[in-house]
Amino acid sequence: MVINSKISLQETLEIAKKEGETIGLVPTMGALHEGHLSLINFAYSQCDRVVVSIFVNPTQFNNTSDLEKYPRNVSKDTEFLKDHNPETIVFTPEVEEIYSDKVETEPFEFGNFVNFMEGEFRTGHFEGVGSVLKRLFDIVKPDKAFFGEKDYQQLMVVKKLVEITGQDVEIMGCPTSRNEFGLAQSSRNFRLNDAQLKEAELIHEALTKAKNRFSTNSIETIEKEIEQLFQSHPSFELEYFSIVNEKDLIPTKTKEPGEKHRAFIAAFLGEVRLIDNMALY
Ligand code: AMP
Repeated sequence: MVINSKISLQETLEIAKKEGETIGLVPTMGALHEGHLSLINFAYSQCDRVVVSIFVNPTQFNNTSDLEKYPRNVSKDTEFLKDHNPETIVFTPEVEEIYSDKVETEPFEFGNFVNFMEGEFRTGHFEGVGSVLKRLFDIVKPDKAFFGEKDYQQLMVVKKLVEITGQDVEIMGCPTSRNEFGLAQSSRNFRLNDAQLKEAELIHEALTKAKNRFSTNSIETIEKEIEQLFQSHPSFELEYFSIVNEKDLIPTKTKEPGEKHRAFIAAFLGEVRLIDNMALY
């Protein structure tokens, strides 16, 4: 079922809620792939009804060309969902339905961790993410909402968002889904040609290298090695490689004994910006 008005969506969900059904929300920007599907399947294991929103949120893009070139194909997406989970409620609002006539972000105090990595290199990105999700949670009022660890910093932002807004929704994190060569599935992969898809495996290779080196090398040594790895692949432009302490998601050069660390990468392959991360334990 495809719905583009919030009123119709709420009417449909009201009926389900009256029957005691629980609602799961999987927010997406479309161009659906196996990664999204893993979230949807997890949502079905936890909730009676699943709403997948497809909305390319203009306020989370700091780069107009990235927004314009973001892959969009709602009819293909709805076919994809029909094939895999035909009972899914697909919410495909227009921009006005979400933002009325004011397409702007709200300020949020997510904490220091948003000053690094995605927050540092994509100014205003997380405020855009917070602004759209706050609205989607208000419209859908889900019991649980599902987010991928692929966007690990975003997952933490969303947890912080519901703490700030007090919205009554449980935020669930789901592991990153990868192809057989380790490449994290992403809508942006649709913009890569076959040769680039192969080259893109370097990102997973770099993260795996960092993980293998972590117990025996300093963070600075690992960072240098990864930078060199990308320098030897000139089709890439490494934006950042950071190792963070998982407790605060702030990049660090020190290994705290007993604490968990995670590595994060953002790199351009041609014009396409790819991100990924991996636990180092
Ligand atoms: P997007 O459409 O890229 O905004 O992603 C929508 C949701 O799917 C976000 O919570 C992402 O973290 C999640 N997601 C995207 N790619 C993957 C993946 N490869 N594995 C797991 N979750 C993913």
